[in-house]
Amino acid sequence: MAYLAQTSNFNETLDKSANRPWEMAVEPFRVAPRIYYVGQKWVGAYLIDTEEGLILLDTTVFENVYLLLESIRKLGFDPRDIKHIFLSHGHVDHENGVRPIAEYTHAKIWMSKEDDEFRKILRADGHGEGFKYCPYDVDCYYDYSKPMQFGSVTVQPRLTPGHTPGTVSFFFTMPDENGKLLTAAMHGGVGTISMDDASLDKYNLPHSLRQRFIDDCEEMKKMHIDIALPSHPAHGNLFERIKNAQDAMDYTPMINPDEWGIFLDSRIGFVRDLETGK
Ligand SMILES: [Zn+2]
Repeated sequence: MAYLAQTSNFNETLDKSANRPWEMAVEPFRVAPRIYYVGQKWVGAYLIDTEEGLILLDTTVFENVYLLLESIRKLGFDPRDIKHIFLSHGHVDHENGVRPIAEYTHAKIWMSKEDDEFRKILRADGHGEGFKYCPYDVDCYYDYSKPMQFGSVTVQPRLTPGHTPGTVSFFFTMPDENGKLLTAAMHGGVGTISMDDASLDKYNLPHSLRQRFIDDCEEMKKMHIDIALPSHPAHGNLFERIKNAQDAMDYTPMINPDEWGIFLDSRIGFVRDLETGK
């Protein structure tokens, strides 16, 4: 596949200092009828094409935001049509491209109230994973009580704390080419490194956040999700799953109603290991 050939080895262990995978472009590809992968090799970002404009889910890092804009253009979209930027959580690798994108597009920036506060605590503490920090203001907080409708695309955000106090997961419903409704979902943050005792204690966060993460995953497992989208491609074997696509527009290999439950179960397992000190 031409678009897969551009990245070297999808299974390699990501060593940030050695490989700098956030600098590695991935040719954009479709993952659902109206959703496209526009992230880079390390961190994901998704473009949702609705009849009411584009929505960008996560922004990658400030330093390499040009890769994201280039991916959007390669798909034939104009980044200036982005109306909303949905942020999954307040860690730099997902949020910190937001300032230049928002200034370029005039899109509204969405985040949870919890992480709008938490990100400022992280920043004050110098937490930035080595990336440049680019300050920004959030325009809207999510309302979890009802879905948002953007043309034929429905978006339901859900507060799923654990990875951060205000991590948000997203559920999409959209029609395919034949009018059949398909569901897609992205858990906003499943990395366990921020859920160990030391990390939680550092920011005065309750250890019960781990159980909250597990409880939410158990609840979300019951939902029928046709297409599971990982926030980091490596977390959900994204590039492996799309390998057999006919071309970059062929999202059919992504459809697997079992994937979502398997994915959440594996993440529950990692957090349980933290609980038991494995
Ligand atoms: Zn994170």
